[in-house]
Amino acid sequence: MTEILDGKKTAEEIQEGLAERIERLQTEKGIRPGLAVVLVGEDPASAIYVRMKSKRAAKLGMHSEVLKFPATTTKDELHKAIDGLNLNSDIHGILVQLPLPDHLDPHETIDWIMPAKDVDGLTAISQGLLYRGQPCLAPCTPKGMLRLLDVYGITTEGKNVVVVGRSELVGRPLAVMLSSRKRNATVTVAHTRTRNLGEITKKADIVAIAAGKAHMLNASHFSEGVVVIDAGTNTIPCPEAKNGQKLVGDVDYESVSKLASYITPVPGGVGPMTVCMLLENTFEAALMASEG
Ligand code: NAP
Repeated sequence: MTEILDGKKTAEEIQEGLAERIERLQTEKGIRPGLAVVLVGEDPASAIYVRMKSKRAAKLGMHSEVLKFPATTTKDELHKAIDGLNLNSDIHGILVQLPLPDHLDPHETIDWIMPAKDVDGLTAISQGLLYRGQPCLAPCTPKGMLRLLDVYGITTEGKNVVVVGRSELVGRPLAVMLSSRKRNATVTVAHTRTRNLGEITKKADIVAIAAGKAHMLNASHFSEGVVVIDAGTNTIPCPEAKNGQKLVGDVDYESVSKLASYITPVPGGVGPMTVCMLLENTFEAALMASEG
């Protein structure tokens, strides 16, 4: 029997608990967690993500700000805005929405955020701490993928885990977290130069994928009983849908769900968990600030 790893329901449950903790932090210490999202340019998808993140934060009782800048914003102007947020005691979490316009270096921009407010877990300092296994604000998507496994009681200790994708945002930090002394998985990282991917994924107990290629893996790539966590979000044409397209993962859900023991749907799997972890990281950053 296949069980669905329901990210939407899990995220809602975590957020209910978070709302209570946020209220308590405010009553007991007078601190209201604050999230600032920085958006540069007019990318429509980014604008939707930013609005959604900000709305969810406000719904949980957080202070929430969106700072919008034109695509022509210079590096110095952006750094100055981030400086302001770094110094603002009402703001505990800062997120710069990616991608940035070409003239702005994402590493340089992200590293301008002070690590204590880096709720996306993407600064060089946060990534270094993660790599060392020291406490840090972990990147939201891999953190959300692992939390989903935890909630469903799926352990990684001693398991053969294949991570498909090695991006800074998802694949690489996920592999680091899985191979940590806390998770103890045996991890293989696959990418575009990997040979015979199907032979590798077939040997896996768990496959986590973030490649950004619609339906790249199908039932022929997996063994019976595999656990599949799919971060992929791809739009494909769908004449029946209202807007003529639909969202699908990197895995062909229909065929793979017949042999997997657990699988995430797309949408409703990793996506809601990512936003949830952003809110949790913002709360944790506020809590840390309250403890000095
Ligand atoms: P990315 O930076 O483009 O990285 C994709 C990775 O997948 C690369 O390491 C690439 O290998 C690998 N890859 C691509 N095609 C492959 C193939 N045919 N075989 C093996 N490996 C392959 O993407 P990303 O930012 O990690 O995002 C990946 C997907 O996750 C996208 O669909 C994105 O929208 C989604 N995503 C979802 C969430 C969420 O909240 N649900 C959050 C973040 C990202 P190379 O390194 O060799 O190029």
